[in-house]
Amino acid sequence: MRWALIGASRIASSYMIDAIRSQNADIQSVLSSDAARGEAYAREHGIADSFTDLDALLADDSVDAVYISTTNEKHHAQALAAIAAGKHVLCEKPLAMTLDEAGEMVRTAAGKGVVFATNHHLRNAGSHLAIRELIASGRIGKVLSARVFHAVNLPDALRGWRINDAAAGGGVIPDITVHDADTIRFHLGEDPQEVVAKAAASGLGEGVEDSVMSVWSMPSGAMVQSHESFTHKFAGTGIEFHGTDGSIFARNVMTQEPVGAVRLVDADGEHEISYDKHNLYHRALGLFADAVNGKGRPSADGVDGVKSLAVALAVREAAQSGKAVAVNYGG
Ligand code: NDP
Repeated sequence: MRWALIGASRIASSYMIDAIRSQNADIQSVLSSDAARGEAYAREHGIADSFTDLDALLADDSVDAVYISTTNEKHHAQALAAIAAGKHVLCEKPLAMTLDEAGEMVRTAAGKGVVFATNHHLRNAGSHLAIRELIASGRIGKVLSARVFHAVNLPDALRGWRINDAAAGGGVIPDITVHDADTIRFHLGEDPQEVVAKAAASGLGEGVEDSVMSVWSMPSGAMVQSHESFTHKFAGTGIEFHGTDGSIFARNVMTQEPVGAVRLVDADGEHEISYDKHNLYHRALGLFADAVNGKGRPSADGVDGVKSLAVALAVREAAQSGKAVAVNYGG
């Protein structure tokens, strides 16, 4: 398979170029809005071509798939152009700025018969696969509640558009709450119904929130408490599930690396849960390639991306209005 990168981004250089190549795929080209940056990026990463014109990049018939990792406001138009050119699309989260845009991307891809996936990496972690298996196999009984701790210290290198540019999709809600929404959906197999929330700027956010706490109700009656922030230097991350027959405590697992500890506590005592420590992004790319070859589905597909965005938008609306907001998943 041959790929093009839409966006000369950090996530591509830190994780995704390696992940694409881990599947014996080639990267043919990269799109940057700045010709010199694009050329330098291509040279540094051994990519043959760089473009500033999306149509020129998409005109290359040897390219089968594109990975979109520009700032969030650009995903929608770039995805539609790629789909129209018949390319399979792996798009970064949040898929778009609005639910309508995200829905249009997914529907258009289905109509064109191309694979469309969302890069929600956490579903691919061995830790999360193990947690999901514990819940699905009934080890904690009926789930009563979940708590997500995803308050991090945003690295200096990422303190650009994320903290000061609402028009580019900045703010911790589109950046991190979307991942937590996807992770909860992945584990519980149901979609959050209603949310309440408070958001704040606690040191980094300029015109966008850098911290948010929210509570979500689930159709099963389970309650979810979620905390995301860019300003917490020492908090560490984690996720917990509490059921009628047991509790799962996972620490340091809301991360891009295959790390962290998972512990089950039940009537028999405490159990350390072992899990496979594979690369999260390699697994995502492998499943994407399988889907392109007609085998299975991507780890997170387009509908998953629409739903995680829907939850994030509801959390933001709830924080802004001070009211409970029913999550609108669109038509
Ligand atoms: P970056 O800020 O690194 O890249 C976004 C855009 O900014 C690029 O497309 C590029 O524009 C421009 N840019 C990047 N570096 C520079 C630079 N040094 N000087 C000038 N311009 C620059 O964003 P991220 O990689 O952090 O995020 C990109 C997308 O990926 C977002 O949608 C984000 O939500 C998502 N993401 C997902 C993660 C995941 O694990 N799923 C993790 C991190 C991010 P151009 O292309 O025009 O050159």
